[in-house]
Amino acid sequence: MPKPVTRYTGLLSAALLLGLLLGWSRAGSQINSSAYDLLLRFYPPPPGPSSSVILGIDEQTLNKHGGLLRMRQPLAQALEIVSRFQPAAVAIDIVLSEPGTEAENERLEQALASLPHVVLATHLSSSSMNPANASQTAAWEEPLKRFKKHAAALGHVHADPDNDGVNRQVLLAKVGGADRRWAMALEAYRLALGAASVRETASGLELGETFIPAPRVRDRPLRIRYANPSSPVNRLSVQDVIDHPDAAAIVKNRVVFAGVNVAGGIDRYLMTPYSFGMAMSGVEINANAYETLARGEFLLTVSESTELSVAVAAAVLIGLIFWRLTGNAAVGSALLVLIAAHGLPLFAFLSGYVFPVASLSAVTWFSAWTGGAYHYLVVRKQLGQAESQRDRYQRAVHYITHELRTPLTTIQGSSELISRYPLTDEKRKEIADTIHRESKRLGRMMETFLSVERLSAGQLELDCQEIDPSDLLTACVERCQTVAARKQIRVDYVPEPVEPLWGDREFLEYACYNLITNAVKYSPASTVITVRAWHETEKVCISVEDLGYGMDETEIKQIFGKFYRTKKALQSGVDGSGLGLAIVEEIVVRHGGSIEVESRVNHGSRFTLSLPSARRRAGQRIS
Ligand code: ADP
Repeated sequence: MPKPVTRYTGLLSAALLLGLLLGWSRAGSQINSSAYDLLLRFYPPPPGPSSSVILGIDEQTLNKHGGLLRMRQPLAQALEIVSRFQPAAVAIDIVLSEPGTEAENERLEQALASLPHVVLATHLSSSSMNPANASQTAAWEEPLKRFKKHAAALGHVHADPDNDGVNRQVLLAKVGGADRRWAMALEAYRLALGAASVRETASGLELGETFIPAPRVRDRPLRIRYANPSSPVNRLSVQDVIDHPDAAAIVKNRVVFAGVNVAGGIDRYLMTPYSFGMAMSGVEINANAYETLARGEFLLTVSESTELSVAVAAAVLIGLIFWRLTGNAAVGSALLVLIAAHGLPLFAFLSGYVFPVASLSAVTWFSAWTGGAYHYLVVRKQLGQAESQRDRYQRAVHYITHELRTPLTTIQGSSELISRYPLTDEKRKEIADTIHRESKRLGRMMETFLSVERLSAGQLELDCQEIDPSDLLTACVERCQTVAARKQIRVDYVPEPVEPLWGDREFLEYACYNLITNAVKYSPASTVITVRAWHETEKVCISVEDLGYGMDETEIKQIFGKFYRTKKALQSGVDGSGLGLAIVEEIVVRHGGSIEVESRVNHGSRFTLSLPSARRRAGQRIS
């Protein structure tokens, strides 16, 4: 059977593993996402002016100009107006790859030429999104050459929603086929800053003096901190700009994101943590990604090793709490760890980190339940043991008072007789003998109880000598004959020559006598008890075997405990204190020997003593 500490750590490890598996499952990652969304909504960026403007091809623009395919003309018109107000950069979130008509292309080209810092969109063609044939067809769909030549940069507009369809991040460096493209928001930010290029390090990107923490993992994802719903990114309608050119004044020194922005959505509309069922257009998401960069409000996901270490630490802490503390202290401390585990993701978020809540939470709960349940079971077991100990002591006290009362009553009665009545000398002597006998019995009983305590405390000195086992056993068997005869029990003992043993005669006689009287007490009438002695290497063995009630495994383990008596012994009505075997064991152990019990319920028992032989003792003295 594993030791309690091994079993306990095994259970805690299982709880830890289960918690981690759950935390890293699909359900766990959904919990992480939902908790993240909640934090994002609770702690939005402070309201304030945005550093970008969305130039939206909205419903009224589409209605006025005849649908999406006719958009280059009004877009060109609006961009011409925008160029007059000196925007910091203009990002056009429409992939201008379709041929279009010459007239509209000409106009758009001229508009682009008049703008400073233009970023044009490129995206992965849908066939290349299929992982099965990605290697053959992966390609970035690019704007027509005539537009591209006026662009200061190309930026990808690839969206990367999570499994639940919610767009929480933008990939700053998206690889498609053999090429890698920077995100449109990043390129717009670079141009607005006037940085010549994006410099890469392991921990992030450098745009001139500006650093963006985006570690080199999977396309360098950047979590988008969507603008405060109470102050969204500025919006301009293409049609409004055409109708009221002065409205475009707000683009001054701001980055313009031009794209389709229709309520209800027709082009790349995605859910965001703020959506609540209403999707957001791609252009608005890109503008929000830009705002995140411009505000420098970065949220970094903690590494998996940190997540694992914290979970292991929490499990160990809870394990120690339930191992070392008890009661309210244990429950209170475990609750504190639970609260801390649930507060950590919030604290991390406020410090700019995203800590996955599911694994830590699952691990702490599972560990707390495991630790708590284990603790409860152990405490309950200890309580049970204490109760049965108390019970046994009560029975012992009861027995002792009962046993003492008999000789005491006799002594009292007899002494009263002597003092009250004139008695003959003969009668007086008879009563005096009774008093003497009973007081001796009383003394013996007291002596027995005291000897156990003294023996266990090591206060009794053994007076050792060579003893002939046959002598010892013959004397014991003789003493038992009267008690055995009352139950018509035969005690078989054939003295044989056995090596002498080394011990205290009085104590060893007590031990053997006790085993034989027990055999008589716990056997039915008319059975046989066999006593044997033999020697083995340097030891002498004595066994007492009966055909009595026997005991089961659990009882055998307890019979050497003070005051323990089996159920059968209690029910049989046979007197006993449950002290005899405790004394026997103590005597044998003090002699450097051992005692063994074999027993089967209703078949009988055999008690075997192994004691040091006198030869061994002599050997020890010589060496
Ligand atoms: P007691 O005074 O009750 O006999 P012991 O310490 O000598 O106390 O024995 C403890 C218990 O072990 C007994 O109460 C009895 O239940 C059990 N026991 C001891 N010897 C035997 C035996 N030979 N057969 C069955 N049960 C025994």
